[in-house]
Amino acid sequence: MNLVAALGSALLLGLVAGSFLNVCILRLPDGTFFKNTRSHCPACGALIPWYFNFPVLSFLVLRGRARCCGARISWQYPVAEVVTGLLFAYLALRFPFIDVVHGAGPTIMVDYGQAWRFLHAVIFCCVLLVASIIDLRLMIIPDVLSLGLVAMTPIVVALHPDLGWRSSLLGIVLGAGILYAVAWAYWLLRHEVGMGFGDVKLLAGIGGWLGYEALFPVILMASVSGSVVGISVMIWTRKFHGKTALPFGPFLAFGAVVHLLFNQEIRELWISMGL
Ligand SMILES: [Zn+2]
Repeated sequence: MNLVAALGSALLLGLVAGSFLNVCILRLPDGTFFKNTRSHCPACGALIPWYFNFPVLSFLVLRGRARCCGARISWQYPVAEVVTGLLFAYLALRFPFIDVVHGAGPTIMVDYGQAWRFLHAVIFCCVLLVASIIDLRLMIIPDVLSLGLVAMTPIVVALHPDLGWRSSLLGIVLGAGILYAVAWAYWLLRHEVGMGFGDVKLLAGIGGWLGYEALFPVILMASVSGSVVGISVMIWTRKFHGKTALPFGPFLAFGAVVHLLFNQEIRELWISMGL
């Protein structure tokens, strides 16, 4: 019962957080984040009444169409909300930090180490989700997200029980350095911009939040998943010549989240395969 209640509240909290992430995705790129606090229909500009602002539920009730003008509501909204909800529930399961002990009366026990691990993972994944969707839509990663991660690194290192100063600092420097070197090499060879500075700054943030040890697996997973998706898109669109512009940010984010959530499992898998 305790577990069901914890998972349920984490899921609900995640749905609400996902709804906020949708606002970030919409408003961060054009700098209107603090302009209006009420939400407006992106198609016709009409004010959206509060009762149509419930995560997922509103989308289902409205059957995917705006009440004001009938414009199709993007699938991005409910999908981002559900993904964030499931993420919160999974992380609450992975890092259980609240326990109710029944002694003379019920007492709430908080494991602070686990609480910081939970908070670290939640914020990290949310920032990367927002950055990925913006990058997919507009091919940019707002500095407030990538450099925001870098700027928050000292706080993260101070609070996180498993992250060290040296590893984090080295993560920022190497993260930025490796991709900067790749971008520079590409420029020398092809005389065109292959990798954006958004990716350089994003990997610096990832290195800061996960430590330098994460950089190699993250870059490896990003490159492999990026190549698989890139080749699939090429086959799907039958465009074998010229260039298909595919942002690299979402793949870096994918690698970073997979590493954060499953690095123990991946290591055990390697060991069990005798590597
Ligand atoms: Zn409308």
